[in-house]
Amino acid sequence: MIVAKFGGTSVADAAAIRRTASIIRGRLDRQPLVVVSALAGTTNMLLAAAEQAASGHLVAAIAQVEALRERHLSVAGELLGDDDVARDVAAEASALFDELAHLSEALSVLGHMTPRSLDAFSSVGEQISARIVAAAFVREGVDAALVDARRVMVTDDSFGRAEPLPDAIAAAARELVSPLLRAGRVPVLGGYIGATESGVTTTLGRGGSDYSASLFGAALEATAIEIWTDVDGMLTADPRVVTGARMIEHIRFDEAAELATFGAKVLHPSTIAPAVRRGIPVFVLNSLRPEGKGTRITFDAPREHVRAIAGKSNVLIVRVRSPRMLATPGALRKIFEVFERNRTSVDVVATSEVSVSLTVDDDLHLESVVAQLREFGDVSVERGRGIVALVGAGLGESSPHMARALAAIGDVRLHMLSLSATGINLTLIVDAEQVQPVMVRLHDAFFGSHT
Ligand code: ADP
Ligand code: ASP
Ligand code: MG
Repeated sequence: MIVAKFGGTSVADAAAIRRTASIIRGRLDRQPLVVVSALAGTTNMLLAAAEQAASGHLVAAIAQVEALRERHLSVAGELLGDDDVARDVAAEASALFDELAHLSEALSVLGHMTPRSLDAFSSVGEQISARIVAAAFVREGVDAALVDARRVMVTDDSFGRAEPLPDAIAAAARELVSPLLRAGRVPVLGGYIGATESGVTTTLGRGGSDYSASLFGAALEATAIEIWTDVDGMLTADPRVVTGARMIEHIRFDEAAELATFGAKVLHPSTIAPAVRRGIPVFVLNSLRPEGKGTRITFDAPREHVRAIAGKSNVLIVRVRSPRMLATPGALRKIFEVFERNRTSVDVVATSEVSVSLTVDDDLHLESVVAQLREFGDVSVERGRGIVALVGAGLGESSPHMARALAAIGDVRLHMLSLSATGINLTLIVDAEQVQPVMVRLHDAFFGSHT
């Protein structure tokens, strides 16, 4: 079997959903399982509506919910007409949006929301897209079967960024999905959403549908995981940032994982791990140009010094200065434990005899992190930084390439610099507004001019 995941733009409207159906029709012999995102833009709108409701702007929140209702009913109507199935789908969609309207009222009365209620809210995008896509597939001649992803994607209760429980997922997939595949049917599941063992709805974090796809692929021992999106594959940089970014035909798992972690939004950062564990190749493909070859991600792509560049802004540096403590054994462990206790992950680390600098891109628990780090020494936080990562499996072995990278960035101020342990990633921490120019300069230096 294979897993085919379609992102928001690949199911954005009726025409896109029909294209998706035709891609799957061409793959029926490979036993596809389909994972879908919410219709493009839906999750952003849902989150905005929840935010508005909780901050007392109920009218604005309800207006967003109603706009979403209208859009989904119109897409469903265009695809399904008005027979019994169409009426069922419309009724289910309406029921979900009614629930959202009620939830909005509740949030506005409470005046605040919990991560748990936010997940209940934002999961509706994938619940309803999966319903519409499954029904549309049947209309387009694909024997699709809707499976509620929340019954298969079993997670812990870290709402907003839930941890999947792979054994429970594998068991549920064997019970609920395998029989459909064996019967020659095409299971359709929403990405991004899951539920705890006791059935409370969770989400895997923004962009999490890619992760859903690879988790389902690992659970069902897929022979390929296909990520269908709006670009031709993985490129040498984000084409929205670097014009002239080039297509990558074949890339290694570890390189793709580094790029995803450092800003290549085309893959959710956790997508690669489940695929690696089972050695399942991942493909990134363009649903607007399905005839393209896309990018193949495997263990054995030929080694390159520099494969691609990624970048992200909104990064913070936390510096801990502790002349006494850092020289003692176990000091770093204690510092990392603070981040662990506060569920904040660290991206880049640099140390000296008396200080440690760490970057994080999530300031949700920052206050408490800083308070706890103060026990060890002076702590300072620098906001408004960004990371640019130059990635290539052979980078660490090549001083000329590293020298070329540093020469290319010229006089841009560096706040931190790190060559990852395996030498695959040269990470530069710069001011956030320098991320784009630095990416362009590096891209010019390694892949030719972008003009
Ligand atoms: P989807 O909704 O299909 O999941 P996303 O918007 O999450 O799509 O991801 C696709 C986008 O990722 C592309 O439109 C592109 O702007 C961005 N992107 C960032 N880095 C890269 C890269 N290295 N290669 C390709 N796309 C990239
Ligand atoms: N719809 C979710 C989001 O926008 C998940 C995804 O598209 O991967 O974050
Ligand atoms: Mg995505």
